[in-house]
Amino acid sequence: MKHIALIVAAGSGLRAGAGGALPPKQYRHIAGRPVLSTAISAFATHPEIDSVAVVINPDHQALYEEAVAGLEACLLPAIAGGPNRMDSVRLGLEALAKHEPEIVLIHDAARPFVSAEVISRAIAAARAHGGALPVLPVTDTIKKVDDEGTILETLDRDTLRAAQTPQTFRFGPILDAHRAAAAAHLTFTDDAGIAEWAGLPVHAVAGDANNRK
Ligand code: C5P
Repeated sequence: MKHIALIVAAGSGLRAGAGGALPPKQYRHIAGRPVLSTAISAFATHPEIDSVAVVINPDHQALYEEAVAGLEACLLPAIAGGPNRMDSVRLGLEALAKHEPEIVLIHDAARPFVSAEVISRAIAAARAHGGALPVLPVTDTIKKVDDEGTILETLDRDTLRAAQTPQTFRFGPILDAHRAAAAAHLTFTDDAGIAEWAGLPVHAVAGDANNRK
C-alpha cells in the first residue's frame, strides 16, 4: 500500500454545535449522507489511493459503523483517537506503520467535499517535495488583536494562506516529526506546523473553496 488516506474523526464536534441533540459534525447528514461517509468516498474512489483508515472516538463506535456501512471493503480497521487532533493523528500514524505506506494523506473528516484534483495535487507535491499543504488565498484582511480587543497589527494578506487538508507527507518523516513533537510536549493545530517545526519541507498547492470545514 503506497498511498494511504488517514481521516481524523475523533473530535467531539462541539464547535459545530454538538453536545445537545445533534451528533458530532462528522456523523451528521449533509445531502442525505453522513459527512464522514462522503469524506471517505472522496479518497476511496480516487485512483491513486490504495487504502483509507479512520481515527475515531471509541464512544462513537455505533455512529461510525452506521456511517461506513457499505464502505468497509476500502477501510482498514478504525483506530482509537486521543484528546486533541494532534494526538489522534499521531495514534493513527503509529497504527499505519505496519503497512509501510510511502505517502500518507492526513485529512479532517469535517471537510467532506475535498475534490479529486486537490488529492492529486497533494500527492504529486508530496512525492516531489516531501510534504504538501493545500491552501487558499486569504480574502479578508486579518488583524492581530490582544485580550482587551485592541487591534495590534494588520497583517499583509498577500503573504497569508489558509491551510486545508489533506496535508500529505512521506510517511516515515511525518511519523518521526509527530513523535518528536509529542515528546517535546508541543501543541500544533495542523500537521504542516509539525513538519515546519521538524524542518521538513512543505510545499503549498492550490486548495479548493468547497473543501471547507
Ligand atoms: O476541531 P478541529 O476543527 O481542529 O478538528 C479537525 C479534525 O480533527 C476533525 O475532523 C476532528 O474530528 C478531528 N479531531 C480528532 N481528534 C480530536 C479532535 C479533533 O480526530 N481529539
